[in-house]
Amino acid sequence: MADALTMYIDGRWVHAHDGATIEVVDPSTGRVIATVPAAGAVDVDIAVRAARRASDDGTWGSAVAERERSRIMFRMAELVREQRDELAELEVRDCGKPLADARGDIDEVAFMFEYYAGWATKISGDIPPVGPGAMSLIVKEPVGVCGLIVPWNYPMMMAAQKMAPALAAGCTVVLKPAEQTPLTALRLAAIAEAAGVPAGVVNVVTGIGAQAGGPLLVHPMVDKISFTGSKDVGKHIQRTCADQLKRVTLELGGKSPNIVFADADLAVAVPGTCNGVFGNQGEVCSAGSRVFVDASIYDETLQAMTDFAAGITLGSGLDPATTMGPLVSAVQRDRVNGYIESGRTEARLVFEGQRPSDPELSGGYFVAPTIFESTSNTVRIAREEIFGPVMTVIPFRSVDEVVALANDTEYGLAAAIWTRDIGRALRTARSVRAGVVWINDSQPAPTETMWGGYKQSGIGRELGPYALDAYLESKHIYINLAN
Ligand code: NAP
Ligand code: MG
Repeated sequence: MADALTMYIDGRWVHAHDGATIEVVDPSTGRVIATVPAAGAVDVDIAVRAARRASDDGTWGSAVAERERSRIMFRMAELVREQRDELAELEVRDCGKPLADARGDIDEVAFMFEYYAGWATKISGDIPPVGPGAMSLIVKEPVGVCGLIVPWNYPMMMAAQKMAPALAAGCTVVLKPAEQTPLTALRLAAIAEAAGVPAGVVNVVTGIGAQAGGPLLVHPMVDKISFTGSKDVGKHIQRTCADQLKRVTLELGGKSPNIVFADADLAVAVPGTCNGVFGNQGEVCSAGSRVFVDASIYDETLQAMTDFAAGITLGSGLDPATTMGPLVSAVQRDRVNGYIESGRTEARLVFEGQRPSDPELSGGYFVAPTIFESTSNTVRIAREEIFGPVMTVIPFRSVDEVVALANDTEYGLAAAIWTRDIGRALRTARSVRAGVVWINDSQPAPTETMWGGYKQSGIGRELGPYALDAYLESKHIYINLAN
């Protein structure tokens, strides 16, 4: 019998008001491993009212000493570290990724709480000069109650990436994890509780997007929505939130270019490019899934990438030999297979890897690494986000041509550039319209830096001090000194 888990609302562990549940599935086997509450508008309302109260009465926000907030957040980081192996294993069972990757995620989660615990005591305003007869104070205040809606590809990390800066800023939160991956979000609530976060400050509502996330968008007591997920849901969120002019930040999808120039060090560029597409099973918003290769090195580079892909081992994320796990769900597997079918008709299939042979994994949602080549950037597999282990390789002949191809997309999340020529690297980096550009690397996103997209990849920035802006309001206090 799978565990029937509860969710965390106003400091209590509760079922949905009507007892509804959803199943949580291990994607490597297709077996149900737990159930969680399927929250609806009634449950969300209780969570939001608790968060509102904790925001308005100063339980957490401006009336609580920053040092106390900071101390509690450092304690959360410590608890994440203490439970690291258990959390990593839970993440693998929930979303399928290899254990080593999950451990990396959990380490970054711990660091995110440390990093923003430090910021909690360093958020300050300004005193602009306004002449001798007056004084102006620009002060920063928490935006209030924040609805945090996250996807399933880095479940705990996405939750922490929003929760840590929100708490540091003095906000209270209602977190809605993806329906496929609620387990580590619930553990994060338990960690907040154990660390001494007061009731109402952190709430986690599990369930289906429209039913558990939807009510956050329209609830008048929610001040802000921070969303990471697909472009289409992002647009729905922005439209819906416009009604109450809620603050909205969006981290959406991508179709990121990966550019390999003729002078690149292929010993670095090939594994880097492949990891940038196949890492995390390709379920990465910033995956460099459009691979542009200089025509003069095209054949050898494509061969080397194929060899790399052939070395990827699919299996259960808990098996140490595994370098690629299953996709998160049957729906996602079918979606990615649909793109592979489309690729067969509009491009040339260069490589397709093997699914695992272990009968234990026959019900798992595996899709093998797949490489297509195309002479065109206009085919569907080069335009739409696939969110699976599918690479499209396209040759180019000049810098101008490849910059135009790189920018010929509605997205603008990330880009990777491989070259030994630093001038060309930086010129290309400035010409590509993307929020993150890697030179001779792909995918690093340290917490201290910045994350976010141009164009239809999003609005706003996360990580580093930039994330704090999303959870703060600025207030001008003007003092007449003449009387
Ligand atoms: P999704 O379908 O957009 O879902 C994201 C979250 O929104 C889930 O919690 C989902 O709940 C919820 N949701 C869905 N419909 C909703 C509604 N009507 N109202 C309120 N909430 C709603 O995305 P996904 O399939 O989970 O994740 C993949 C996408 O995320 C990709 O497009 C990827 O590029 C993007 N992503 C972006 C970043 C970034 O930093 N830019 C990072 C990671 C992922 P359900 O789980 O019930 O659907
Ligand atoms: Mg979804």
